[in-house]
Amino acid sequence: LKDQLAANRHHPAVTRDGTPLKLLANINNVKDVEAAEAMGAAGVGLYRTEYLYLTHENVPDEDEQYEVYKEILQKSPHKYVTIRTLDIGGDKTVAYLGHNHNEANPFMGWRSIRLSFEHPEFFLSQLRAIMRCAAELTEGGPGEVNMLFPMITNVEEMRKANHLVRKAEKSLDERGVPRGKVKVGMMLEVPAAAVCIHHLLELVDFVSIGSNDLVQYLTAADRDNPKVSGLCQPLSPAVVITLKNVIEACNLANTPVTLCGEMAGQPRAFLLLLGMGLRSFSMSPAFIPTIKELAILTTIDHAERVVQKVTEMKTTNQVKRFLRMELEAIS
Ligand code: PEP
Ligand code: MG
Repeated sequence: LKDQLAANRHHPAVTRDGTPLKLLANINNVKDVEAAEAMGAAGVGLYRTEYLYLTHENVPDEDEQYEVYKEILQKSPHKYVTIRTLDIGGDKTVAYLGHNHNEANPFMGWRSIRLSFEHPEFFLSQLRAIMRCAAELTEGGPGEVNMLFPMITNVEEMRKANHLVRKAEKSLDERGVPRGKVKVGMMLEVPAAAVCIHHLLELVDFVSIGSNDLVQYLTAADRDNPKVSGLCQPLSPAVVITLKNVIEACNLANTPVTLCGEMAGQPRAFLLLLGMGLRSFSMSPAFIPTIKELAILTTIDHAERVVQKVTEMKTTNQVKRFLRMELEAIS
């Protein structure tokens, strides 16, 4: 397997009929960037910044954040990085931002951007650090820095986030600190946002689908609780329809869309997502070589026919069985 991984590392990610794909890496820290490079990622599609905060006793200041983001950008394949703002809460906690676990429903509670909004000074320092790291790129040269807001639920929140982006830009300009161009996007992981995707698309440069949370929220089933995790199925008909709607809405609006949940690295889901029109996938680096191998065996036409069939299915087991058969037929 090692030989196979080494062999396709430098191959472009492309389907059998020549459609180019973007296979990106999810990373949690600087060390993971090396794995991304080694596995042939086209860039970093999701940098979970919360790990930087989890390892600190207190809030890291703007300069500290800037230094880390800069290092990640410089080491990222093709200098392409999507930096997600703090996504604390649910299962991860940082005491110094006033966050603790005394909530009846932590996953539906005060987490992620909801918490960042209540710490505007900290939040703005993170936005400024991201913009400053983007200044490392040369204009017209390679590379891209994207800023990603987690857990966006509605239009008001996205407007608020955009307002803070403008504010951070202004304060850097007033201080005379260089900043680079940054695209601003949202994680699509709350069902309410999936329903109103057409309104949200007016407010973002790109969308990244967080299927881990989306599936959990859509099915109202905690995937870490064995009593109910059977309901929390990425290949359930409700999830399939939701993903199809979101991907189609993004493509129709010409808004770049990536999926960065665990699904992106699963062969059965990959076939389905490809057929829905998804062309950008972000996953744990270890899955990239396998998905690249699978892409070269697959045609878009086939994947689209698979989606047509799957959207008529009524149960998860039917979907899973059918996708397994389709995969066996091509590999
Ligand atoms: C997701 O929810 O799918 C996601 C990628 O984010 P995280 O796993 O960090 O919640
Ligand atoms: Mg998430």
